[in-house]
Amino acid sequence: MSKVLVVGAGGVSHAAVHKMAMNAGIFSDITLASRTKSKCDAIAASVLERTGVTIKTAQLDAMDVAATVALIRETGAELLVNLALPYQDLKLMDACLEAGCHYLDTANYEPEDEAKFEYHWQWAYQERFKAAGLTAILGSGFDPGVTSVFATWLRKHKLASIRQIDILDANGGSNDQAFATNFNPEINLREVLQEARHWEGGDWQVTPAMTHKVAFDFPGIGERNMYLMYHEELESLSTHFPEIERARFWMTFGDAYIMHAKVLENVGMTRIYPVMHDGHEIIPIQFLKTLLPDPGGLGQETTGKACIGDIVTGQAQDGAGEKTFHIYNICDHAECFAEVGSQAVSYTTGVPAMIGAAQVLKGNWVAPGVWNMEQLDPDDFMDMLNSQGLPWQVHELDGPVAF
Ligand code: NDP
Repeated sequence: MSKVLVVGAGGVSHAAVHKMAMNAGIFSDITLASRTKSKCDAIAASVLERTGVTIKTAQLDAMDVAATVALIRETGAELLVNLALPYQDLKLMDACLEAGCHYLDTANYEPEDEAKFEYHWQWAYQERFKAAGLTAILGSGFDPGVTSVFATWLRKHKLASIRQIDILDANGGSNDQAFATNFNPEINLREVLQEARHWEGGDWQVTPAMTHKVAFDFPGIGERNMYLMYHEELESLSTHFPEIERARFWMTFGDAYIMHAKVLENVGMTRIYPVMHDGHEIIPIQFLKTLLPDPGGLGQETTGKACIGDIVTGQAQDGAGEKTFHIYNICDHAECFAEVGSQAVSYTTGVPAMIGAAQVLKGNWVAPGVWNMEQLDPDDFMDMLNSQGLPWQVHELDGPVAF
């Protein structure tokens, strides 16, 4: 019996829990808990209809450590999969330590009142997880997540070292909305509007948000504008592969998205600290989230493809000098919706969360401590990407990227 407790019942959770139920040999007992139980019940009903599997549901405030400890004990969960928001990471790690449960998430901790994406808060749990004999896996989504596993797979099978890495995330999907984010709007806008940082020459290089634009011809999608951004795996990759000279992250955005995001920022709607309105305190970005479409509900109307991958240059293992590889997945929004009722961004995050959880439950990634994805053996994870709906391709390029 492999008992798992999933926390959070949004778009990513919807995809992950369906895929867990489709792998009942690994996930034999699933409990889904979140702040709003009706959202758990809706996912459970869809899982039952699509897969015939019954999952349990529960109400939980993940900021309440005692309540989480009690639920872990009641369900007998050996692994907690955190698909709530980054604000809950540390409280859920505390609960896992107290209840003796492994931990996995898809996004690094950030304080609610500061858009600061750094691993040090979670890396500080290293000794406590080691001492408790428990495993914590950080960032098992697509980016972070698969993008780190891709780098590790290249490092294991093709390259003796990595000199430079570019992570390219393209969402070529479209829907009927004038402005929508493809995952939680609050977290998405906090990420997109921060300064762009990349790792180069042993230090962080900082440029203003959304100012460095490059056109790239994405496999399966075509040419799109991508923008230099900071993303959390740049920190863990440059730490765990110290030979990396340059690490950058790029994401595509259409002109309409950039225009809306800039206007919302300029008028103060993306502020993350409270303001007084009619005698009440409100946090503008949280109010904005209430107004914007729920990304998890956009599956039916979203068409097109996403393509996410790494372009990596380093010394070849075969002694043939420097080589460059592009490794990526192409994911079709409509196919994801047909399979599990999710759009591709929820799917490309939820499936790797399920696969990372499977690595723990299969015993492949059980090692006391706190781990980022690039520190773990990639092979079974890569096989499961192929068999679980996110097939990948790797191609050798003529040389390093020219941008
Ligand atoms: P959603 O906003 O759709 O879902 C979040 C869920 O967490 C909601 O069900 C919400 O409850 C629940 N939640 C929030 N606070 C609490 C709390 N205190 N206690 C219990 N439950 C709570 O987000 P997404 O599904 O879009 O994203 C989920 C996570 O995935 C985020 O951390 C995001 O950053 C990450 N992500 C990672 C990616 C990757 O590739 N690594 C890509 C995309 C997302 P309620 O319904 O009541 O609001």
